[in-house]
Amino acid sequence: MKLDILAFGAHPDDVELGCGATLAKEISTGKKIGIVDLTRGELGTRGSAEIRDKEAAKAAEILGVSVRENLRFKDGFFVNDEKHQLEIIKMIRKYKPEIVICNAIDDRHIDHGKGSKLVSDACFLSGLRRIETSLDEKVQTEWRPKLVYHYIQWKNIEPDFVVDVSGFMQKKIDAVMAYSSQFYDPNSKEPVSPIATKNFTESIEYRAKDLGRLVFVDYAEGFTVERYVAVNSLTDLK
Ligand SMILES: [Zn+2]
Repeated sequence: MKLDILAFGAHPDDVELGCGATLAKEISTGKKIGIVDLTRGELGTRGSAEIRDKEAAKAAEILGVSVRENLRFKDGFFVNDEKHQLEIIKMIRKYKPEIVICNAIDDRHIDHGKGSKLVSDACFLSGLRRIETSLDEKVQTEWRPKLVYHYIQWKNIEPDFVVDVSGFMQKKIDAVMAYSSQFYDPNSKEPVSPIATKNFTESIEYRAKDLGRLVFVDYAEGFTVERYVAVNSLTDLK
């Protein structure tokens, strides 16, 4: 299956939190989108890998993505090496996306910056024909995505561009809240983590609102790029 956009996240819920509204907006215009999670988030303070598998499937359904896969790398300990790069290359060559979106370039959780560089490196390597991979006993051909974008997570990284996601915030929040084991729940008996606070849940909306405010729209999600943003015309920008 060929996809327009492939979004990677170190943990299930990274993609929803980082760019859920943008994906929902692209899907609404007919784009084919997939999500690949690198780990099952098994080190998360709350819930379990099994619970998060189910939550991730529910969130994917809410967003309307065409496919979601999990590479089952080791949460907290995966590294950017040949073995891990090859697994990501297989996904890129399988889905042939024009655009890859991945973790924030730097963040509080060490897996985010690590996952970001790992996916970015694999996007480049995937275009080298002498790197041989096969999937389901079929030899794959090289594929390099045209663009690699990084969403923004815990830290307030300055975006290189923002997407107007007005009208798609509710869908994002619904997808994020599918991970009910992870977020604020006053009745939960599990330990509190930074993302399980009321403030964090509220920040999903107020951070998008603040980014939107700066470009005169209701809500926006920000991204960083790896090369200059090129437009066809000055009037392309809103
Ligand atoms: Zn994460």
